[in-house]
Amino acid sequence: MPVRKVVRIDDEKCNGCGLCVTPCAEGAIQIVDGKAKVVREELCDGAGFCLAVCPTGALSIEEREAPEFSGEAARDRTTQPMAGSKQHITQRCFLCGSGEGAEVLMPCRFKGDSLWVCVRCLPRLIHG
Ligand code: SF4
Repeated sequence: MPVRKVVRIDDEKCNGCGLCVTPCAEGAIQIVDGKAKVVREELCDGAGFCLAVCPTGALSIEEREAPEFSGEAARDRTTQPMAGSKQHITQRCFLCGSGEGAEVLMPCRFKGDSLWVCVRCLPRLIHG
């Protein structure tokens, strides 16, 4: 097996909030029994986009032996939910509360928090 970058989840620090599930475009992270898990290592590309959203610092990137990343498996994964896990957790705009079913949401950082803002509220953030 190759040595490469993959996400590591600290079970002690994870509170199961699920904020890391949606930012993982490959569907590698799911909430299983109340904790975030990398369900299959070949789904994790090691990009680390999930790290910034974790409020407890439970996520990190480590270099270790892991199966090669598979773009094909990631594409299959996003269309085939795994039984017993949450495939998708709906996020909401921190300003107006709109869900992603109603507005396009974007991730942002503010005063140490990872937040989602909708495109309607974005101009307010930029221009005050
Ligand atoms: S964002 Fe952090 S605390 Fe929340 S589920 Fe993911 S790893 Fe756990």
